[in-house]
Amino acid sequence: MAYTVPKLKDFSSAILDKAADKLLAALDEESKTVSSEAEWKAFRDRWMARKNGVLTQINELWLKAAPKDAKRDVGQRVNEIRQKIEQKVDGAKARLRAPVMEVEHSGIEVPVEELEKYAGGIKRDADRLDITLPGIRRPLGAEHPVIKTMNEIVSVFRDLGYSVREGPEIETDYYNFEALNFPPNHPARDMQDTLFIAHQESKPLRERLLLRTHTSPVQIRTMEQMKPPVRIVIPGKVHRNDPPDASHSPMFHQIEGLAVDSDITFGDLKGTLDHAMKALFGSSVKTHFRPSYFPFTEPSAEMMVSCFICGGSGKRGSEPCRPCKQTGWIEILGCGMVDPNVYGFVDYDPRKVSGFAFGMGADRMALLKYGVDDIQLFFQGDVRFLEQFA
Ligand SMILES: [Zn+2]
Repeated sequence: MAYTVPKLKDFSSAILDKAADKLLAALDEESKTVSSEAEWKAFRDRWMARKNGVLTQINELWLKAAPKDAKRDVGQRVNEIRQKIEQKVDGAKARLRAPVMEVEHSGIEVPVEELEKYAGGIKRDADRLDITLPGIRRPLGAEHPVIKTMNEIVSVFRDLGYSVREGPEIETDYYNFEALNFPPNHPARDMQDTLFIAHQESKPLRERLLLRTHTSPVQIRTMEQMKPPVRIVIPGKVHRNDPPDASHSPMFHQIEGLAVDSDITFGDLKGTLDHAMKALFGSSVKTHFRPSYFPFTEPSAEMMVSCFICGGSGKRGSEPCRPCKQTGWIEILGCGMVDPNVYGFVDYDPRKVSGFAFGMGADRMALLKYGVDDIQLFFQGDVRFLEQFA
């Protein structure tokens, strides 16, 4: 006789115990009778179907009907019962699987002992193995869109003869600021909201540790180690005390470049960056420079590229082009001629050498390139988002 869920008149522990025992005994009994796929489905539905399954019924007849002071106790028992039902339903399916699969898929039954003779130690889950079942496929990984973008930018400069340098993410104040011509108390320090390591007040300012706010310290570290000519690109993570939003993240990626030699001019800077942008965004993009300020370059400039989304028109059909804010230009990087003061920190002679530096946000480049409108998506690790770029 099939089990039916009784209405409870009394919600005392003793009555609940009895009712639960009865239910679980019936569950156990019924699970044993399952011997085919069809029977298993019926078993599963009888106990778990949203509409009128036993689980739904005990929710209605026991939990919802329970008086307030018994709700907690009843709720706990219903949860335990739910787990048991799920276990039994899964268990019945697993018991079913081995023999039924053999019949349904192939009909080939090979005794494990036979296989072991040839294959030497095969993992055995059941008495029979179905050798026609598909194997386990491991999903292939792919490059993250930001890393992919960084690699593309790096390779453009590699082709121009630049080498790649990296440096520590925890830096001293000296490398992050002072040697880059940000004197103590200089207002330009406030342009970069810095994350400092705590409890360093007893150290001299230049030795205090912080999370680097740009990849520029690697320029100093490199020039300390080698004499000109220097041609390097520096990809890496940087950190600022910026609250996360669609275009800001406390951690982001920069790529920076530095070229120093005996006779480098602003013309070289423009030619190099113009070539790089054409290599990255297509040969029809135009570049445009306008004056800016950075402590470590003089003169400094911001470079714009003509909008590669609307072709510089500021419009997409009849709609305004949002990435360039209808101006037809997109601001893409900061650059300039290395300030002679910087050479003083690395023992280069400013009368004999000159050079340029530039830096761009790799995440921003990836946003533009892939038409993504929220930088946070890059760092949330959601495979559904990331696999679009694989
Ligand atoms: Zn545009």
